[in-house]
Amino acid sequence: MDTVTKDTIVQQLTQLTSPDQVNLDPDELKYASLDFYRKYPRARKIYQAPIPVAIVYPENVEQVAAVLKYANDTGVNVIPRTGGSEIERGLESAREPHIIVDGSRLNQILKFDPEDMQLTVQAGVPLKQAEDWLNEKGYTTGHLPQSQPLADFGGLVATRSIGQLSTLYGGIEDMVVGLEAIMPDGRIVRIKNVPRRSVGPDIRHIFIGNEGSIAFITEVTVKLFPYLPDTYHYLAYTVDTMREGFHLLRDIVAAGYRPSVIRLYDAQDWSQFYPKHAEKPVLIFRTEGPQPLSDATAGAIKTMVESSDQTQPYEPLDEIIDWFKHLTWTQKEVDAEVNQLEKTPFVGFTTEVASNWSEIANIFEAVTTRVKKEIPNLYGIGGHSSHSYVNGTNLYFVYAFIDAEDDPAGEMARYHDPINKIIVEETLKHGGTMSHHHGVGKARAPFIKEEYGSSYWVLKTLLKSFDPKNTMNAGNIIPLEFWDETD
Ligand SMILES: Cc1cc2nc3c(=O)[nH]c(=O)nc-3n(C[C@H](O)[C@H](O)[C@H](O)COP(=O)(O)OP(=O)(O)OC[C@H]3O[C@@H](n4cnc5c(N)ncnc54)[C@H](O)[C@@H]3O)c2cc1C
Repeated sequence: MDTVTKDTIVQQLTQLTSPDQVNLDPDELKYASLDFYRKYPRARKIYQAPIPVAIVYPENVEQVAAVLKYANDTGVNVIPRTGGSEIERGLESAREPHIIVDGSRLNQILKFDPEDMQLTVQAGVPLKQAEDWLNEKGYTTGHLPQSQPLADFGGLVATRSIGQLSTLYGGIEDMVVGLEAIMPDGRIVRIKNVPRRSVGPDIRHIFIGNEGSIAFITEVTVKLFPYLPDTYHYLAYTVDTMREGFHLLRDIVAAGYRPSVIRLYDAQDWSQFYPKHAEKPVLIFRTEGPQPLSDATAGAIKTMVESSDQTQPYEPLDEIIDWFKHLTWTQKEVDAEVNQLEKTPFVGFTTEVASNWSEIANIFEAVTTRVKKEIPNLYGIGGHSSHSYVNGTNLYFVYAFIDAEDDPAGEMARYHDPINKIIVEETLKHGGTMSHHHGVGKARAPFIKEEYGSSYWVLKTLLKSFDPKNTMNAGNIIPLEFWDETD
């Protein structure tokens, strides 16, 4: 196929939508070529990935379908975007020419249904806006990712995101009841909203977590829960070792208790918040729900944690309550970090993984030991567990380094990628999964075969069946060099 010219793409997009829906601003195009994975070079205005031809803002489903069909027919790579808080190179393009299809003008709350406890929104509705609106009415989605003020429903579903209250409410995959999506050939598909079904494989999961590589999600229906902030209980303790902390998390969840928040921080990680109170690991809990349930859950956790001879109450507890209230990142925190990265080569990142209980402490120790040994100019590496299940938990590694060379263009190759690689290697070696909630993007795509093992064939067949021309976010999840391999 002949490569379509940039002028033709712009002309066609303008015809399919309207002139004020096609953004050609050079600065905005450059900014849109990267995401938070390269936040350091982006802060220094160094753009190393292909620049999109245009950002197009469809205003209805038919326009999304027309744009996708045009791209699919002409070999233009489509990067779907809603909130733009992607963190794993999912918004970078691996193939030129490419366009950003931005869903932020699909921003209507379509149906609030308190009887069936469901909310239907368009993909570009910001989660925080919907959540504030619901809270005023006495409801919540139960979804509180740290990026709640930055992310929109389309991206939250496309990445299989998770929020800080997940132990009670689940991840986004537990919340999505039905959805609407546009396939690369422009076909519109809808999955209806029912409480459960037994009608073959659950095809919601073809779209939840597709990371823009199968379809463009245009509408989502999620479950609702009562919003009961007056019933919250907070508890916090220090604990002598991470291993004992993991045991306590395990015992609480395995016994059947479901606090909304259940976290374990190592001292290094906690020191970024309260260095004076960071001599030991810290355990944090919040319970909520109907008052008797919240009271009983808090009471049981208190008994279980205090029966360990390795725990001590964390004081002052108000510090924890205040910390939790300010845990989400708004644009203000993003701007402050950009400001800091512009001036200083001090760079911090996170990588999150998960495993069964039996291996989690081993992964934590193996990763922190290797990173400290192998990575130069490391400021520190620590981590926390923030999402627990009956059979295991996640680990969220937090690390920072000084870019001694003051060379943002080379930072990824020298620091960020090698640290990521150690974390992924050690996690896979211990039987865990390389990504708990940030997705694969292009940062972790090189490890996709090791992650899936013999079931990689199923994943690849799925992506190639629905997107045979690799129109949708080419190189995401499956790297370009793997796409044409015969497996
Ligand atoms: C400070 C910070 C804190 C974070 N905290 C959390 C957290 O607590 N939990 C968590 O899970 N994640 C977290 N993240 C990661 C990020 O916020 C999530 O991945 C979020 O779900 C992305 O939503 P978004 O609307 O910003 O998507 P975008 O950044 O716009 O896109 C994310 C990915 O989804 C694809 N995509 C976007 N919209 C669509 C669509 N409509 N249809 C199909 N594909 C689409 C994109 O191509 C891209 O691959 C955090 C990120 C930051 C920067």
